[in-house]
Amino acid sequence: MKHCYHLFSFFFFTLLFASSVSLSQELKPVKLQLKWRHQFQFAGYYAAQIKGFYKDEQLEVKILPGGPGILPIDNVLNGKADFGVFDPTILLRNDRKKPLVVLATIMQSSPYVIISLKDKKILSPSDLIGRTILVQEDQGWSIFKAILLKEGINANNIKVIPRSKDSEEIIENKADAVVTYLTTQPQKLKGMGYEVNLIRPVEYGVDFYGDVLFSSLNNAYRDTEKTDAFIRASLKGWEYALKHEDEIIDYILTLPGVKEYGNNRKYLKIEAKELKKLIMPELIKVGHMNIGRWQYMLELYQQLGLADKSITLKNFIYNPKEKILRDWLMPAIYLLCGILLVIIIIVIINWQLRERVKIKTRELEAEILNRKRAEDLANDSKEQIELILKSANIGLWEWDLKTNLKTYSEQWCGILGIKQDDLLIDFDPFDSIHPDDLEKAKQIFQQNLSGTRKRELVEFRIKNSNDEYIHILSSSRITVENEQTVKISGIAIDIEKIKKKEIELLKISEELMQSNNELKKFAYITSHNLRGPVVNIVSLFQMINLDKIDDENQVYIDKIGISVDKLDRTLNDLIEIVSHQKPENKSFTIIDFKVELDEIIQSIEMQIVTSKAKFNTNFLVKTMPYSKKYFESILLNLITNAIKYKSKDEPLILDISTTENEEYIILKVKDNGIGIDLEKNKTKIFGLYQRFEPNIEGKGIGLFIIKSHIETLGGKIEVNSDLGKGTTFIIYFAKNIN
Ligand code: ADP
Repeated sequence: MKHCYHLFSFFFFTLLFASSVSLSQELKPVKLQLKWRHQFQFAGYYAAQIKGFYKDEQLEVKILPGGPGILPIDNVLNGKADFGVFDPTILLRNDRKKPLVVLATIMQSSPYVIISLKDKKILSPSDLIGRTILVQEDQGWSIFKAILLKEGINANNIKVIPRSKDSEEIIENKADAVVTYLTTQPQKLKGMGYEVNLIRPVEYGVDFYGDVLFSSLNNAYRDTEKTDAFIRASLKGWEYALKHEDEIIDYILTLPGVKEYGNNRKYLKIEAKELKKLIMPELIKVGHMNIGRWQYMLELYQQLGLADKSITLKNFIYNPKEKILRDWLMPAIYLLCGILLVIIIIVIINWQLRERVKIKTRELEAEILNRKRAEDLANDSKEQIELILKSANIGLWEWDLKTNLKTYSEQWCGILGIKQDDLLIDFDPFDSIHPDDLEKAKQIFQQNLSGTRKRELVEFRIKNSNDEYIHILSSSRITVENEQTVKISGIAIDIEKIKKKEIELLKISEELMQSNNELKKFAYITSHNLRGPVVNIVSLFQMINLDKIDDENQVYIDKIGISVDKLDRTLNDLIEIVSHQKPENKSFTIIDFKVELDEIIQSIEMQIVTSKAKFNTNFLVKTMPYSKKYFESILLNLITNAIKYKSKDEPLILDISTTENEEYIILKVKDNGIGIDLEKNKTKIFGLYQRFEPNIEGKGIGLFIIKSHIETLGGKIEVNSDLGKGTTFIIYFAKNIN
C-alpha cells in the first residue's frame, strides 16, 4: 500500500508541475479567422488588438480577414487558425469526428438578409420562386433554406448563383436577389441611389444568432488558459469598440483591402449602428449564450432535414468549468482511477492469492493429517495382519510367472524351513508336498493356471523344517494381464495342531461310539435277560398268601411288593427306550406328512373327539425319506402331549407345518395349550423322567425318546413356549444322514 501512495504523489506533482510550466509561458501565438473582409463587423477583435487586451493576456493574436473562398470552419479544423468568427451554421458541421465548440455569441440576431431591388417586387420568400439569387454557401444560405422549407417552398424552384462580390451584382443584373449582410449592404445600395426590399429571417420565425466566436473542441480545450484569455480579451475588445466606434473605424480604415473594396468611414459608421442593433449591448452582455436558443436552432435545422439527427449539443458550448477538468484534472482523475483500479485489482488478487494459499495450506494440512491417519491405520492394520498371520501361522506366497520368481513370507519360510539360499536356488514347493497329495496339488495348480478353479481352501501335507509332514490349508488366486495369467499368489495355514486334535477327537468319538454301542447292547441284553426273572418274581409275589404271613413279616412283604412293582416299571421303561434303536438306512421310507398325520389322527380318534382338537396344516414340504417307526413315534408323542396339556378354557388348535432350508426339513407342531415355564425348565425338558404337571398323568420319557430318535438320525429339536398361551416344538430332520 505504501508504494501506491508514493506512486500517487508522483503522478499528482508531475501534473501540477506540468500545468505551472504552461502558466509561465509568454505571448502565446493565436490566429483568428474572420468571417469576411475587414469591417466593423469584427470591431471587438481589432479593439482588443490595438488596446493591448490580447497582450495583457499574454496572447500574440493575428487577425486573418475572410472573403470569398475562405472557409473559417475548415481553417480552424485544419489548424490554419485557432479561433474563428462564423454564424450558427457551425451547428451543421458539428460532427462527432471533428467536433466544434462555440465560445461566445457576438450578435444576438442574425445579420443575414435577402436584398433585392425594389422594382423586382420580391417582398416575401414565395416571390423568389422562379427567380435567381446570389448566394455564398456557408454565408447565411442555410438560414434562408430553413425559411423556404418552413414556408413550403421547394428551394429547387429558385436558381442559385454563387456570389463573388457583395450586393453590387444585383445592380449588374446578375441575379434578382442576393443573400448578404444587413449591416452594410442595404445602406451601400441606398447610398448608390437604389431602392431595395429586404427579407429578414426573424420576420419568418427563424430567430438565429448572428456572428459567433468558435473553435474546434481540440483547440479550445488543448490549452484552456489560452482559450479563456482569448475570449476574455475579445469580449473586452467588443465592449471597448462599441463605446469607441470612431477610434476603431479609424483603425479599420488603415487595414489592407478596406478601401479597395469600396468601404469608407460613412459605411463603417452605418455598419456600426446596424451592428449595435444586432449585438444589443444595452440588453445583453456581449458574448452571452443561451443553450435554449442553440437547442431551438439545432432542432429547427433537424426538423427541416438540414442537420443530421446524430448532431447534439453535447460539448458544443464551451464550458470553462469543464475545461479545468478536461485540462489536467480529467486525465489526472482517469489516471488516478486507473491507478486505484490497478491497486484494487492488485489488492484483490493479493487477497485472493492469500485466501487460496490459506485454503491450499488447510487442504494440505488436512491431507497430511489424513495421510498420517491412513499411514497409522495402515501400520496398525499391517501390525494386526502380521499378528494374525503369525498367531494363526499363516504364510503368504507369490509366484511371478513372467520372471519365474517365487517369494515367500517370513512366516511361510519359517513353516517350511526355507533359507535365503534355498530361495536363490529356486525352491520348488512341489518337492515338499507329500507324495500322496502331489497329484491333487498339481491338478489344482493347473486348474488355477487355466482359471477354471473356484477359490476354495484345499488341504495338503507338506514337509516342514524338521522334515516332518504337516497339514496345511491352502488357497490361491491368479492375476491376469492382457488375458494372460501372470501371477499366482496364495496363503497357506498351518493346521497341523488342529489336525492332530481332529484326529484325537475322531479317535475319542469312535471309542465313544463303540462304548455306547456296547452300553446299548448291555442295556438290551440286561433288559431282556432280566425280563424273565422279573416277570417270575412279580407272578410269584402275587401268589404269596398274605394271610399266612405274620404281622412282623407283613411289613417286609409290603416293602418287597413296592420294590417289585418299581423294578417291573423301570424294566418296562428301559425296554421301551432300548427298543428305539437306530434304524438302518435301508428301513427309511418316503414319509408323506399328510398321510402320516391322518393315520395318527385315526389311531387316536377317541382322544381327538373328546378333546375337540382342531388341526391346521401347511405342508410346504410334502414328503421326506425317514424311518417310519421313528416319525410315527415323534408325531404321536407331540400330538398326545398337546392333547394331554391342553387349556381347560379353550378348544385345542394344532398348527402343523413343514418348511426346509439347505440342511434340514423342518416340522413345526404348535398348540394353544397350557404351555411350559421354560425359564425354569429349559434345560430339563428333554431329560428322562422330567415332568412339570404332576396333576396330569404321565411318565416323563416321551420327549426324552423323541430327542434321542431325532438326534440319532442327525437332527435336532427345539421348543418355544409361553405359559398359558401354548407350546411349539420345532424338529429339524437332517437331509443328509450319515
Ligand atoms: P409325559 O409322559 O409326562 O407327558 P413327556 O416326556 O412327554 O412325559 O413330557 C415331559 C413333560 O413336559 C410333561 O410332563 C409336561 O409337563 C411337559 N409337556 C410336554 N409336552 C407338553 C405340551 N405340549 N404342553 C405343555 N406341557 C408339555
